[in-house]
Amino acid sequence: MIKIKALGAAHEVGRSGFHINFENTDILLDYGVKIAEDSMEYPIVPEGIVKHMILSHSHLDHCGMIPALFQKSRPTVYLTAPSLDIADILWEDSLKIARLEGTMLPFSKENIQDVFGHMNIVNYKQNIQIADNVSFEMFDAGHIIGSAITKLQFGKKSLIYTGDFKLEESSLHQGADIDIDSPNYLMIESTYGDRDHPKRKDVEKEFIENVKLTLDKGGSVLLPAFAVGRSQELIEILDKAAIKDVPIFLDGMGQKVAQIYMKYPGFIKESFKLKQALNNVHYVTSQEDRKKAVQKQSIIVTTAGMLEGGPVMFYLQKKKNDVKSNVFLTGFQMPGTNGDLLQTQKKVDVDGTLIDIKMPVKKFDFSAHIGKADLLRSINQWNPEKVICIHGDGKVVDDFAKTIKQDTGIDAQAPKLGDIIKLD
Ligand SMILES: [Zn+2]
Ligand SMILES: [Zn+2]
Repeated sequence: MIKIKALGAAHEVGRSGFHINFENTDILLDYGVKIAEDSMEYPIVPEGIVKHMILSHSHLDHCGMIPALFQKSRPTVYLTAPSLDIADILWEDSLKIARLEGTMLPFSKENIQDVFGHMNIVNYKQNIQIADNVSFEMFDAGHIIGSAITKLQFGKKSLIYTGDFKLEESSLHQGADIDIDSPNYLMIESTYGDRDHPKRKDVEKEFIENVKLTLDKGGSVLLPAFAVGRSQELIEILDKAAIKDVPIFLDGMGQKVAQIYMKYPGFIKESFKLKQALNNVHYVTSQEDRKKAVQKQSIIVTTAGMLEGGPVMFYLQKKKNDVKSNVFLTGFQMPGTNGDLLQTQKKVDVDGTLIDIKMPVKKFDFSAHIGKADLLRSINQWNPEKVICIHGDGKVVDDFAKTIKQDTGIDAQAPKLGDIIKLD
């Protein structure tokens, strides 16, 4: 029997963590954090000593808590090479932020070092034997660099854990590789189990048109963007659009992450295009550079994507009354974050004070997640006996499980936090 305990990402997006037990083997799938209003939420602590851990990809909601496992356990951590490099940046950054804010994290710098002593780099389509009767294989998930869909084999039974994935092609990634043999069980991310995204090509086109309109009016464009994936994608899209005479600046952690994208060109599509785009970009490395970037007409791609701190706050305050310029949001804004506040109330919180932003705000749906129709298409293709809907808000996963049953006739459920699912 396969037993799966939902430590997080059950009826919610964030703090992914699933602890699987099969005979004498245990495997933890992902172990992340949830960025909630004014705080961090952590997954449930796994029982006993964790011996094996598989990371789907390096977003904080999947990798953020891995070093904390090393307070008690010494698991072998299986992950792709880009995932390790990016996770390292994110872990170090989490420690830095905690230090600056005077808060405590449940792990130390030593624990990050511990991960490096226990990692096992995995390539796509490489069969890894964990125990006599347990093995797994990873497939490109098309979500961010190094992201993976994992197929696990437990004796005669198999299970696919999708992590976050996307079927549609984007500027940096081919769609996910879902050409995987039918599993018995499927654990599927359901972030957008309730809707479809507009076509990526259309979003890109509308985005570029709006950038050009703003520049034509003499305004600048401020682009708050996630450090992992979105910053690099926007830089490439802007470069391809060949916007002349207006400099493009890249600020924040997206710079470091871009170097990792360049270090692993085989993990992205047409890496020469990103390379060229990065060559044309101005890197912002000091406060002086920042002041220069806002003095003249410019396009600025900067962290934090949800406007929770980072250099974007400097630019926002400088440009807040500039009605000729625009701020374009290009990612999901978690309720309660500054990005959400900006989007819904045209205000942001700066050190406890709400300030008005007169600069116009527009949102573009550049999601790195799969939408409802493609989710159902994947389920039909994989045709499992049972689907477990995870990584989605409560109502979304419940409704999506019902939709799966109605549309495909396949059994589906959406576990709650702490639930244990038993699969024969
Ligand atoms: Zn993700
Ligand atoms: Zn996620």
